[in-house]
Amino acid sequence: MKAYSFPKFDLHLHLDGSLPCMTAWKLAKTRRPELLEQGYEAFRNRMQVHPNCHSLHEILDCFDLPLALLQDEEALFFCTKDLIKQLAESGVVYAEIRFAPQQHIKEGLTQRQVIEAVLSGVRQASKEFPQIEIQLITCMMVFPFDNDAENWETVQLCHEYLNRGVCALDIAGPEGVKPFSAYRPFFEKAKHFKIPFTIHAGENGPVEHIKEALEMGASRIGHGVSAIDDPKLLLRLKEQRIPLESCVRSNYVCEVIDNYKHHPIRSYFDQGLLVTVNTDDMTIIDSTLDQEYEILQKELYFSDRELLELCRNSVEAAFLKDDRKQYYLQLIDTWKNSGDH
Ligand SMILES: [Zn+2]
Repeated sequence: MKAYSFPKFDLHLHLDGSLPCMTAWKLAKTRRPELLEQGYEAFRNRMQVHPNCHSLHEILDCFDLPLALLQDEEALFFCTKDLIKQLAESGVVYAEIRFAPQQHIKEGLTQRQVIEAVLSGVRQASKEFPQIEIQLITCMMVFPFDNDAENWETVQLCHEYLNRGVCALDIAGPEGVKPFSAYRPFFEKAKHFKIPFTIHAGENGPVEHIKEALEMGASRIGHGVSAIDDPKLLLRLKEQRIPLESCVRSNYVCEVIDNYKHHPIRSYFDQGLLVTVNTDDMTIIDSTLDQEYEILQKELYFSDRELLELCRNSVEAAFLKDDRKQYYLQLIDTWKNSGDH
């Protein structure tokens, strides 16, 4: 696979779905030794969705293993640190890593302890890999059962940790299990706290979900694939510079699209929307940003110049202050003008 040498950015990256396989293997030695019996390859296969052989059920199953392993502080620390190492070594200079604290409280941790453990992984990584900057997004969860209390706690903690390692709020989980309107009070509170938020919408749900997310005050949209069905919405997204967090390989592997060529990112880009390139779940869908860029070039005919435009979009879309955005835009320009590529 081609390695792209320009500065890279990932704004939509889930911690549990991106637990590096070797880290998981090491964690399992003391936590779930029975999973190691069939060897590393079989263990790795359990964490990855395989093209042409999957269902939504199978994809959700892939999260069972990382979530089972990520229930103590040490595991969360190493997962975070090792993921950041992997990102830094592949030329990512800025990433927003998201996670749902309530997914890691099954063995006694509190949501606060989960956030602290992840933050300590970020702090350690920033010492070892100063070339990369990381911010965290805390996710609420959509579940078929009542988890309002857990979601309220996530909003409260997001407020407390905002600008102290956490930059925004999100909501993840299967679209359509509950109406979006059920989450309006949470996002009203987030607005009250001046917490910026992104919402997973229009991944495998209808375009109405995207409109509702915007109406609730989302400043970015996770995926937004179904916006392609609504020209008026596309115009609004363009005019208001609302970022879309595209995850092309994830959408293909999870059967949101049946062919890379059918992904709307090409159309969004051509229409001037603020679209960005992201990995979503690096381990589960077996993706990296280099792989995403290669797909964009081979399947959707993005030129080298257009890839740099997508990087600039990510900088504009990032939950960063203006001076940091200027820094990263300059970094891209410096790379472009350096001529050593
Ligand atoms: Zn996602």
